[in-house]
Amino acid sequence: MKMTNFIKNIFQNLEKIKEAGTWKDERVLEGRQGTTITVQGKKVLNFCANNYLGLANHPKVIDAAKKAIDEWGYGMSSVRFICGTQDIHIELEKRISNFLGMQDSILYVACFDANGGVFEPLLGKDDAIVTASLNHASIIDGIRLCKAKRYIYAHDDLNNLEDNLKKARVDGAKNILVATDGVFSMDGDIAKIDEILNLTKSYDGILMVDDSHATGFVGANGRGTPEFCGVHGKVDIISSTLGKALGGANGGFISAKREVTSILRQKSRPYLFSNTVAPVVAATSISVLDILESKNSPLEQLTKNTERFRAGIQKTGLIIKEGSHPIVPVMLYNARLANVFAERLLDLGVYVIGFSFPVVPEHQARIRVQISAAHSSVEIDKAVQSFEKVASDLGILGKSKDFLVNWK
Ligand SMILES: *Cc1c(COP(=O)(O)O)cnc(C)c1O
Repeated sequence: MKMTNFIKNIFQNLEKIKEAGTWKDERVLEGRQGTTITVQGKKVLNFCANNYLGLANHPKVIDAAKKAIDEWGYGMSSVRFICGTQDIHIELEKRISNFLGMQDSILYVACFDANGGVFEPLLGKDDAIVTASLNHASIIDGIRLCKAKRYIYAHDDLNNLEDNLKKARVDGAKNILVATDGVFSMDGDIAKIDEILNLTKSYDGILMVDDSHATGFVGANGRGTPEFCGVHGKVDIISSTLGKALGGANGGFISAKREVTSILRQKSRPYLFSNTVAPVVAATSISVLDILESKNSPLEQLTKNTERFRAGIQKTGLIIKEGSHPIVPVMLYNARLANVFAERLLDLGVYVIGFSFPVVPEHQARIRVQISAAHSSVEIDKAVQSFEKVASDLGILGKSKDFLVNWK
């Protein structure tokens, strides 16, 4: 293809994205991440970050990062197996394992890489992966890179999971791995890890859980969805991120039995052929775990804030998805309504994002609110009041789903 045609094609694809209404604009923050951010010169309350524990700019975290730079330097300029492993990398891996009740952990520069690199070394063409239909893009891509046969089970449908496990056994799979998100990020719903684990074991399979929206804050001690579901330390493989609740810089990991992490260190391509997690991130993540394991963990505050927002928004008559997770989807069912609603909230100084098809199913449009331990009660109440005001102005307070679907 000639260059001009090549570019013209891309241009047409870009136009199609805009026509489909799925174009993503990036709002530029002037300054730090936080509960108050400055966007286009305007100060707004931020209710759409993954900064669940408020650690992204916690004074202790910033202080630890400054000290780490002085002690460990800025960059490693190497992969782990050449000259890119410092004692803080080993220590962080130990601390993560200990936190999650797992035998060993292996760091990646992102959870996307962890998921991208975990399947291919562990499973071959005679094996099967049974995967949840709404799994994160990185799990989907990781599975694509692996030769195992793929089976997809319907969201939150354990009967369908069992059907697929049976099918995999009938098809003669040698090893079966079940892969699921611990928390599904559009709904904030928590997978039934205990039941999934039982079912997986009854077919002699192994369970992998991506706990990116859970590590640090789901479960009584923040150990994630296995703890929440009463199976702390029992899941075979956990992947998660340092880029959300755990300080929010970047980095990911896999935690599992030592044989699993050992084969990953030998064979996992994003680990072998990509740079070490920056020393400052490794050392600072240790200080994040220090905070989580101390008496001053922000977890309790996050729980209080989430309860306050959920109770407040329910009183207004708006519809939310029930649950306990700090992801709170406020259901509007109508894509245009979700966008108009989010714009009006921004006018009132509350920054949230509307999600619609194809990110969520059709007629399931919503505004996804994310609560942080760092939000003050005043900020949470302001968000609730702003939701109520916009809903009232738009004439949708207390209206049914049908009304909202047909709203014009
Ligand atoms: C955010 C997220 C990832 C990617 O994490 P990064 O460390 O940012 O690459 C992977 N899986 C799930 C479920 C996520 O929510």
